[in-house]
Amino acid sequence: MKELINKLEATGMLGKDEFTLLLSNFTPELSEYLFQKARNVSIKYFGNRIYTRGLIEFTNYCRNNCYYCGIRAGNSKAERYRLSLEEILECCESGYELGFRTFVLQGGEDNYYTDVDIVEIISNIKNLYPDCALTLSIGEKSEESYRAYFNAGADRYLLRHETANQEHYSKLHPKSLSLKTRMECLWTLKKIGYQVGAGFMVGSPFQSFENIAEDLLFLKELSPEMIGIGPFLPHHDTPFGDRSKGSYELTLFIIGLLRLMIPNAMLPATTALGTINPKGREAGILAGANVVMPNLSPIRVRKKYELYDDKICTGEEAAECRFCLQNRMKSIGYELVVDRGDFKPII
Ligand code: SAH
Repeated sequence: MKELINKLEATGMLGKDEFTLLLSNFTPELSEYLFQKARNVSIKYFGNRIYTRGLIEFTNYCRNNCYYCGIRAGNSKAERYRLSLEEILECCESGYELGFRTFVLQGGEDNYYTDVDIVEIISNIKNLYPDCALTLSIGEKSEESYRAYFNAGADRYLLRHETANQEHYSKLHPKSLSLKTRMECLWTLKKIGYQVGAGFMVGSPFQSFENIAEDLLFLKELSPEMIGIGPFLPHHDTPFGDRSKGSYELTLFIIGLLRLMIPNAMLPATTALGTINPKGREAGILAGANVVMPNLSPIRVRKKYELYDDKICTGEEAAECRFCLQNRMKSIGYELVVDRGDFKPII
């Protein structure tokens, strides 16, 4: 199996069968072999610098019914909330003081906010903080909407593809959602000029190693600037409430593979990774990740943006999260930097 990792390191790519073979044979020893290489690549491109993004979860209303997600429309137990423009700006203000130079606005697909509202939020943030990058993660929209947000100043867009396999996609989502639309959105975002983020959950119900291989092939083709992956974690009030968690070790292994595939990609050590293991985010960095995304949402809403059970950091102030992560990174020899953290093409 080490030969396959060497080949991936040398060429940046493997075939579907090779990825499937590698994934189904991963061991702690092979992981360590991979992580060493992946870490070296991160160090080559980013040094020991870790980029931060301030995450603002501004609405947990959602019109969709994804079977895995705790804020799905069908979860009548979810306590819903929305942040006003003023509240969002307050999050940015405290975030800016804490050294964040990227804000990520994430939410359910909430049609309460019209395009005019979203544009107003974007323009306000960009006017007040022209030196900051703004990332949106608000789901599937029309090309026209994506263009309006981009023209208003949004720089980046996160839209995980969730799975690149059609059949698998239909087992995770209701009929109203299709992989075709999701992928079209991603290509449209690229065409418009956004820095794009895709990704998937590791260990989502019905996922096979072959499916993950398909995800990797799709990611290589799309070549997004950012790739977010994390383990699937069940939420008790969803149809997948009694499913088992994704594998922590496999998630780390895939982070390592992604680092060798797309050396300069922005790869976050996600909150889900920190939830499945108390040292998950540190381990993610040591497996090749280079980004962390602490939460800037007001404490009163934190617990309500519950995509899965036992989500971490729901009780801490933004400042606490920031310094906690700074210490965690320091403990493994890395430093958080005050920087927009833009994707840099390899020249
Ligand atoms: N509505 C936006 C944001 C979705 S939330 C959108 O459609 O893009 C961000 C990500 O959280 C999702 O893309 C999904 O991959 C992840 N997520 C949702 N439920 C999860 C769960 N139960 N376990 C782990 N990750 C989950």
